[in-house]
Amino acid sequence: MFLENEHDRARRRGWIEVICGSMFSGKTEELIRRLKRARIARLKVEIFKPGVDNRYDEEKVVSHDANEIQSTPVPSSANILLMANDVDVVGIDEAQFFDAGLPDVCNQLANSGIRVIVAGLDMDYTGKPFGPMPSLLATAEYITKVHAICLHCGHLAQHSHRIIDNDKLVVLGETDAYEPLCRSCFIKQTGEK
Ligand SMILES: [Zn+2]
Repeated sequence: MFLENEHDRARRRGWIEVICGSMFSGKTEELIRRLKRARIARLKVEIFKPGVDNRYDEEKVVSHDANEIQSTPVPSSANILLMANDVDVVGIDEAQFFDAGLPDVCNQLANSGIRVIVAGLDMDYTGKPFGPMPSLLATAEYITKVHAICLHCGHLAQHSHRIIDNDKLVVLGETDAYEPLCRSCFIKQTGEK
């Protein structure tokens, strides 16, 4: 027998929204904007981020312009399923750092009637699709690609070019570690490929 709120959940429609782009493109700002509006609508919102990203603050999703919202760091995508009970909206930031199980977790949440909003880097610093992002983009209902401004020419930027000497995939940092570049300036900086 269904409890009343389970019955409501079953009738409700869930979906996945992905906000992607390079560093400095405003992904987290856009995620926060959508989550704050959901809260204004009195929806129950939970926000998660991978435990690896503790750049500024353990407990908050903090964007580059210090607009912030409370979030829970989790060690793996499976933890999100366990912790997303009785919510209307799930927000996930820095999705590219999650494990390969994240797309399945997001789909399970959406299938159960939850609106899932995911923000993440679509490409790593070498220009390759990043972690679970390609699968998320393929299964999402709505995709928003936001752009930074190329620091070299002023056109729209889609690459996060690493300007420090380090070949680890995950290097967290600010303007001292990365610069946003457009396609042609990225090719000039990294050599023809
Ligand atoms: Zn450029």
